[in-house]
Amino acid sequence: MTDENKKPSMAINYNDCGFETLAIHAGASVDPTTGARSTPIHPSTAYVFNDPDHAAELFNLQTFGFIYSRMTNPTVSVFEERMAALEGGRAAVASSSGHSVQFLTAATLLEPGDNFIASKHLYGGSITQFSMSFKKLGWNCCFVDMHTPDLINKAITSKTKFIFIEALANPGGVVLDIQKIATIAKSHKIPLIVDNTLATPYLLKPLEWGADIVIHSATKFIGGHGNAMAGVVVEGGTFDWFESGKYPGLTLPEPAYHGLNFAETFGSFGFSMKLRAVGLRDYGPCLSATSAWNILQGIETLPLRMDRHCSNALSVAKWLEIHPAVNWVSYGGLEKSPYKSLVNKYLPKGAGAVFTFGLKGGFDAGIKLVKNVNLFSHLANIGDTRSLIIHPASTTHRQLSKQQQVSAGAAPDVVRLSVGIETVDDIINDLDKAMYNL
Ligand SMILES: *Cc1c(COP(=O)(O)O)cnc(C)c1O
Repeated sequence: MTDENKKPSMAINYNDCGFETLAIHAGASVDPTTGARSTPIHPSTAYVFNDPDHAAELFNLQTFGFIYSRMTNPTVSVFEERMAALEGGRAAVASSSGHSVQFLTAATLLEPGDNFIASKHLYGGSITQFSMSFKKLGWNCCFVDMHTPDLINKAITSKTKFIFIEALANPGGVVLDIQKIATIAKSHKIPLIVDNTLATPYLLKPLEWGADIVIHSATKFIGGHGNAMAGVVVEGGTFDWFESGKYPGLTLPEPAYHGLNFAETFGSFGFSMKLRAVGLRDYGPCLSATSAWNILQGIETLPLRMDRHCSNALSVAKWLEIHPAVNWVSYGGLEKSPYKSLVNKYLPKGAGAVFTFGLKGGFDAGIKLVKNVNLFSHLANIGDTRSLIIHPASTTHRQLSKQQQVSAGAAPDVVRLSVGIETVDDIINDLDKAMYNL
């Protein structure tokens, strides 16, 4: 929701601006009362109405403005507008984490008994969320190898409401043919949702390749400094919710809103309005103003950071590829990667900074390596300015059987890196010392 009062100072036409300009300016304006240039943190829970009529209009969604920070907050709004601009979308809604925005997205589109198709190459936490916790709500997920169009077509039923993929997948350096998958989604009149956390809109804009909705864990590269949790969903604005008759929650009168019809009333941003006005209102995982501010600070340097992340990651991957203790390296930017041609098409600026490699010494060598590193931090996160390392089989995937570990890309020999933006020689030296005598 845009604050009408901000309009006069928003003289920049974002359609004419480059990505770097948008990353710094989109959604922000000079504070009209203080002249503050940096976006202020607004830690106010609620906002005073002009008069009772204004209050009534706000509650009826007849005018845009701030009521209560569970649904809208001025600092959070700047973050939402900036993400919509960076992804080239129509509108965005922020939430407390990547997982909560995935929940809100599913809750807006699914009824109990519905299903959706997800790529089997997903962040492990998403696989657990989709296959265990969503199931309890009657939302069924079918995991499919998205490299095989036949399998996608076969999995789609009359109850299938969307396709969910990570175009650049966490953790294994897997890249999908997003345009092909978008065509399949269109032929079934269902939206394609892309988790763009690993690529960020600087490297890849899924909406330009036919996706309908983009979601992010902004906790990672968008914020970029490992100091705030956030999620955001961006609506492309071109999907026709009426055509298939499959989305009654958007196209029929909403009982939780006096019979309001979201897709009809709000058109190209009907999905995000419903997600905010019903999802955020009733489930409540809102983003705090302070976290939104931390993320905004990070976004300003997103293009610079991603360039450095990508060039450092490529150097580290090339170095690992010829290291005697290393069996294989799965990074899309390497010439030998099976995904190199997809990287050339979709990720010409770089294949991101998160990838895996296999140690000849297996499980024990993985344990030794994470113990030996100094500059790298051994922890369960990605997308920080700092270089991060984890040995999945002894941490995030330790509860799984060996068979499950292997199919999840977390076999005992696998190590995952999130390459930071430190001096690349220091990153390589740290690995070099840690890998001595593995
Ligand atoms: C971390 C992550 C998530 C979950 O986001 P949180 O902010 O941790 O809730 C979802 N998808 C991907 C690709 C991630 O890396």
